[in-house]
Amino acid sequence: MSLFEDLAAANRILAEYGVIDGYGHVSVRSDRDAQRYFLSRAIAPELVTEEDIMEYDLDSNPIDPRGRESVRERFIHGEIYKTRPEVNAVVHNHSPSIIPFGITSVSLRPIFHMAAFVGEGVPTFEIRDVERGTDLLVKTPYLGQALAKTLGGKPAALMRGHGAVVVGENLPRAVGRSIYLEISARMQMQAMMIAGPAGKITCLDDSEVQASFPTQDYGRAWNMWRANALAQMRSKK
Ligand SMILES: [Zn+2]
Repeated sequence: MSLFEDLAAANRILAEYGVIDGYGHVSVRSDRDAQRYFLSRAIAPELVTEEDIMEYDLDSNPIDPRGRESVRERFIHGEIYKTRPEVNAVVHNHSPSIIPFGITSVSLRPIFHMAAFVGEGVPTFEIRDVERGTDLLVKTPYLGQALAKTLGGKPAALMRGHGAVVVGENLPRAVGRSIYLEISARMQMQAMMIAGPAGKITCLDDSEVQASFPTQDYGRAWNMWRANALAQMRSKK
């Protein structure tokens, strides 16, 4: 089934680009039932194949677990699908270059066209405002709902001291945004270093951000990423 192939490829692409390590995850809404979504069982994303993909309802109950272990933070996915009907793909990652922006007062800015969506706003989820003394993981429906509320209608949200959640109306957009969010954060740090404390950094303005939306679907890159990921998956089977 091609949606399962796409999801297996998405796991491997995000691992390849350093966006998810052994622990991030990516899901896709079912194309047959909008009240269901697909997410790999709890294994390293780089190893995911179609056989590892499990189906969940939007309360994140597995439909047919057959002894397979579910990802503990799956509530991130289910609760976002509930509040964002137009979203069909969700990535949760621990993308290293975005972490500094979640723990400081420095905001991510739209600094180059491939990550223009940053200009729509990237809020930060402070788990401590919701529950104190957690291990920072979103392991309950309650925490998932709070994160979905912080995300609101935005393309991404940072999670303080933990990572980020990135969404899109399809897998190519959610995956592409995740990869370019990591690159953009790294480039922003470089620009800040070059510019120094008093230096000027010119960002995209609102009209440029809006103009970028229709074209920024990562379609060409997705076809290449997907082909490479599937070739690698088949060769190792
Ligand atoms: Zn996590």
